[in-house]
Amino acid sequence: MICTKCYAEYLDNVKVCGECNIPLADACLIDMPIPIMDWKSLPPFEGKIYAEMAAEVLEKHSIPYYLKLDWVTSTFNITGTTQPNEIIRIFVPEDYIDSALELSSSISGIDI
Ligand SMILES: [Zn+2]
Repeated sequence: MICTKCYAEYLDNVKVCGECNIPLADACLIDMPIPIMDWKSLPPFEGKIYAEMAAEVLEKHSIPYYLKLDWVTSTFNITGTTQPNEIIRIFVPEDYIDSALELSSSISGIDI
């Protein structure tokens, strides 16, 4: 499933974009504006704050990227008491993965 606004990619059981709050489209129904290239995922970020920090750094270095939101808890567990953890994955083109990893490692391995 694809968000037609931010082009984030979601699992098939997700119906609404968590970012834009609009219904997702079936990926095969729309023309993908993202050029065909191999996208690689950075190690997942726990929480939007880190992902946004990483995205900011990537942007500064003119590295293309897109974000994908995942929920760690099982969808069967939705009525449970545990809060689902927001996991954000950042995808960058394969050509950029090395520098993206280097740039983002200072963020995910943060030490304040
Ligand atoms: Zn969206």
